[in-house]
Amino acid sequence: MLFPDDPPRKLVGIARLAASADVLEAKRQVEYLELETRRFLGRGSGRMSEIWTINPYRGCEFGCKYCYARYAHEFMELRDPELFERKIYAKRFERSVFRAEVRRLKHGATIWIGTATDPYQPAERRFKIMRGMLEVLSSERGLDMGITTKSDLVARDADLLAQIARGSRVRVHITVTTLDESLARLIEPRAPRPALRLAAVRRLAEASIPVCVLAHPVMPLINDSERSLDAVCAASAAHGACSFSAAPLFLKPCAQQVFFPFLEQSFPHLVRRYRERFQRNAYLSGHYPEMIAERVKKIRARHKLATREAPEWPLDDQLDLFSAVAPGA
Ligand code: SF4
Repeated sequence: MLFPDDPPRKLVGIARLAASADVLEAKRQVEYLELETRRFLGRGSGRMSEIWTINPYRGCEFGCKYCYARYAHEFMELRDPELFERKIYAKRFERSVFRAEVRRLKHGATIWIGTATDPYQPAERRFKIMRGMLEVLSSERGLDMGITTKSDLVARDADLLAQIARGSRVRVHITVTTLDESLARLIEPRAPRPALRLAAVRRLAEASIPVCVLAHPVMPLINDSERSLDAVCAASAAHGACSFSAAPLFLKPCAQQVFFPFLEQSFPHLVRRYRERFQRNAYLSGHYPEMIAERVKKIRARHKLATREAPEWPLDDQLDLFSAVAPGA
């Protein structure tokens, strides 16, 4: 309320559903809530309009400092960016509704899971929505499917993914931004350690699931050295990944609200340079992205890995995939 006499704002759509969601569990400072869901498949926009998206959870407990998806909670009138990692909404999974949606897809339809939030975040251990969805998808054929995560929990589903791969195309993208565990703890405070993510790469590769390791985002003077990127790429190859990719950081205003205070605390010497570069434009331009692209290309060739599997989209296009998810979806 702006002033005490303002009439209360009427909540609509996703904000109304979020406000009336039942609390499933309160853990540490994290609250799990159930979100009524009309449909599970969303659709990308713009260049991504042919891609179907699935995000079983809203909010993400991993709390990465650079996360660009925090603004999603703003759709639910949750404007404090930290609530994104403390108020986690699990979509109420209705197997028959999901199955009917999937059956309406055309042969060869592309579905990408985890375009907005991590589908294997801690909530999945309890609610198993991903597991339920993969069980449904395992009885379908002719789909083109991908998953993005930074959780080793994905390896739990290696059996189902292998089953899906017998009738559809499947690949998994696992994010590993650094092998330095202390740095990972700083920038991705509640995500699994890099070594656990690499162990998941190995388990999936052993189950013949193609895995791409993403070293996104590449943060200037934090994880962008040739040595750091090379170490991630070498470890990816050694653990059986078939491709590797990395793209520079971008910082939308909602991400800046968390990233800049983090920099002030952990990398105070970088604050001025980051502010100069990101305050007017969320994207880096000019020499830096070209240099990183060249560096990554050279490293990838050194370790004989391919670039990431299609659909090939710039990282920021994931925003298109996400922003088009209808309220309530
Ligand atoms: S895992 Fe992805 S969605 Fe979750 S906080 Fe990190 S960047 Fe955001």
